[in-house]
Amino acid sequence: MMKILEELVRPNIWRLKPYSSARDEYSGHEAHVFLDANENPFNTSVNRYPDPLQRDLKQVISQVKNVAAEQIFLGNGSDEAIDLCYRCFTEPGKDNVVAIEPTYGMYRVCADINDVEYRAVQLNERFEMNAKEMLDACDEHTKLIWICSPNNPSGNCIDPSGIVTILNSFPGIVIVDEAYGDFTQKPSFRTQLNRFPNLIVLNTMSKAWGAAAIRMGMAFASKEIIGLFNKVKYPYNVNQLSQNKAMELLKDPYQTHQWVRMLIQERSRVIVAFEQLPICVEVYPTEANFFLAKVTDAQAIYNYLMENGIIVRNRNKIALCGNCLRVTIGTRGENNELLGALRQY
Ligand SMILES: *Cc1c(COP(=O)(O)O)cnc(C)c1O
Repeated sequence: MMKILEELVRPNIWRLKPYSSARDEYSGHEAHVFLDANENPFNTSVNRYPDPLQRDLKQVISQVKNVAAEQIFLGNGSDEAIDLCYRCFTEPGKDNVVAIEPTYGMYRVCADINDVEYRAVQLNERFEMNAKEMLDACDEHTKLIWICSPNNPSGNCIDPSGIVTILNSFPGIVIVDEAYGDFTQKPSFRTQLNRFPNLIVLNTMSKAWGAAAIRMGMAFASKEIIGLFNKVKYPYNVNQLSQNKAMELLKDPYQTHQWVRMLIQERSRVIVAFEQLPICVEVYPTEANFFLAKVTDAQAIYNYLMENGIIVRNRNKIALCGNCLRVTIGTRGENNELLGALRQY
């Protein structure tokens, strides 16, 4: 059972009276002369401050993701939502968080920045999570549990029944990062939001939607948690150009579905070819737009590829990833270049 929200939130954040921007204060009235925000009145298309709550964009995202607009937070990348989880819920020097290991590096970096203890619980050799071990790592100061599914860098999905066990048993907040959720057939935890008040689901436009440069991250949660994020975030955290571009992309979801279908097909083809290479020891199962492969000598192969102008991610130093490279699925031509270079190794 989740504790009541007030017991989980940092007391100073619970009490915080947020900054009230010019655009917040007149809302509800029809207006056409804006002399309240010290903007330049001449139209440059970006002379006005953007909507601090991105209301138009959230209406569209609400349709695409099937989540109520009041349960959506938009940030400057998912990284903003990750940081807000720490800033809203964890007391520096006192609280701790628990996360699967290996996983996305930003959970630990944000913990370190916020001076919060990070408890990494290693997955098994097939990158599977043990829910009981995660819960055993918690104590009364554990505020957050981080689960990434499909997981980065391994690519596999974390068993949903284990995630549900944690959601039911852990009294704090559980974050399920589905940055790669567009590439799997498994249902999203977004559909479980109204069943679990302690659930936060992260999505992003950086991967499947082809928009890493606009920095558009999404968090889905109860309207109470979204309200906290809105209170703590920078007033104009998502700029107008990014909002415009996101709107354009979201209005053509068919294009994204086509890219995803092509990348999934290409992923199968590349993995089959990669497994034939003499340098390949093992390719791990993946439901993302990348795969993790154990190779004969990760550092040497990484260097060789780099000398040929091909960059993959060397995960050699990460837990359970000895001699592993993480390879993103590119275009057919790019993938063939990679395979060709590796055949020459
Ligand atoms: C790429 C990635 C993100 C995306 O972060 P953005 O800040 O939205 O670009 C989030 N989580 C994981 C696990 C990722 O791999």
